[in-house]
Amino acid sequence: MIALRPYQADMVHHIMNSFSQGAQRVCAVAPCGAGKTITVGWMIARAQLQGLRTLFIVHRKELLEQADRTFMDMGIRHGIIAPGTGMDPSQTVQIGSTQTVAKRLEKIGPIDFIVIDEAHHATANTWRTIMAYYQQAETLGVTATPARLGGSGLGDVFQDLVIGPTVQQLIQWGNLAPYRYFAPPSKANVGSVPVRMGDYIKSELETAVNDADIIGDIVANYRKLANGMQACCYCVTRKHSEHVAAMFRAAGISAQHVDGETDKSLRATIIDRFRKRDINVLCNVDLFGEGFDVPGMEAVILARPTQSLTLYIQQSMRAMRPDPNNPNKTAVIIDHAGNCFRHGLPDDDREWTLKVKPKRKREDTGTSLTMCEKCFQVYESHLRTCPYCGYVKPVAQKELTQADGELQEIARIKREQRMEVGKARTKQELEQIAIERGYKLGWVSKIAKVKGIRG
Ligand SMILES: [Zn+2]
Repeated sequence: MIALRPYQADMVHHIMNSFSQGAQRVCAVAPCGAGKTITVGWMIARAQLQGLRTLFIVHRKELLEQADRTFMDMGIRHGIIAPGTGMDPSQTVQIGSTQTVAKRLEKIGPIDFIVIDEAHHATANTWRTIMAYYQQAETLGVTATPARLGGSGLGDVFQDLVIGPTVQQLIQWGNLAPYRYFAPPSKANVGSVPVRMGDYIKSELETAVNDADIIGDIVANYRKLANGMQACCYCVTRKHSEHVAAMFRAAGISAQHVDGETDKSLRATIIDRFRKRDINVLCNVDLFGEGFDVPGMEAVILARPTQSLTLYIQQSMRAMRPDPNNPNKTAVIIDHAGNCFRHGLPDDDREWTLKVKPKRKREDTGTSLTMCEKCFQVYESHLRTCPYCGYVKPVAQKELTQADGELQEIARIKREQRMEVGKARTKQELEQIAIERGYKLGWVSKIAKVKGIRG
């Protein structure tokens, strides 16, 4: 059987401990790159040896394919539960997609151990159906971000959290490549984009970012900060992604758009060309996220503002997989979406809890970051000097915040004044307001007309 890394063995130990102390549903937290599937595979192989029956559930086709390969590599015999695939109930390990498993519960037979991949999805109804059906089974969820969209915990599903290594540790130990994080200023105005179901409404977001000028900056900053690197650019919609790819090509940089709808063989061809460095930039919409690995990625470009911490972590860390051919690899992250100011940096220490109501403190993560105006790298705002290029933060930045504050103050006063005008019922009252504020008298008759005040 495959040997676990020390921290992986540690996680297994803590998970077993939690089960033996009476928890029935345990959620294990480990960052991308920690080797979650291998750790879980080890536990499943062990259960198989003990004659227990395991169900490994994933929520996407790509993840199912990935688990299938990993388990095969690990020598774990298993059946597949997927649409259009015949079942072999005699196998003691089954890998299945959520939807199909939920439909075939009667046929699967008894299960002792359930593993839920990407367990932050485990609150959906289909998961609940499955868990309710196998009430006696010990259930293990694994995820990098044990939180829902909107930030609340998974306490209504799991009873215990087992926390694995941190991103910083994985970087120290060489299991993840270090990174440089750039957040160039963007002209996109996302502040007014409405939020639904915990994230920006895509159609409105597209309008805010699908602009030639904004995309031009993306291309220019790739040139400046990651020129020639193999990069993945995360976009908002297909239209936006295609537009970004076209602008890269127009600048003489080989780029292609791919998405979940792209024909499978075409997608394979594109990814193969990317692997051979024939294509430099892959533009996509949330595709290369969970479990969909493209080897050789050196840089990511975040062009999709998101409120989802899970999505942010998955996308920003995509290029941090170590490269055996390049032991000195440093991933480059170019954040055009301002996501680090919403969520902090990828290796920030995060305090995960199962609480359904998130801690207020969590929402403040990221507010303490600042972007260096000279090199665009991101660092903690209490520092006066950029740790990367030595640029000293000008005092003007402070004045800017003051000016911002003043503008807000002016807006507030204006609002209150509007209310007063709104309350005025007679021309005299309007005149009073005009005198107090030094308005011209023409203002009185104009407003009076609008409000329908006579005399
Ligand atoms: Zn700097």
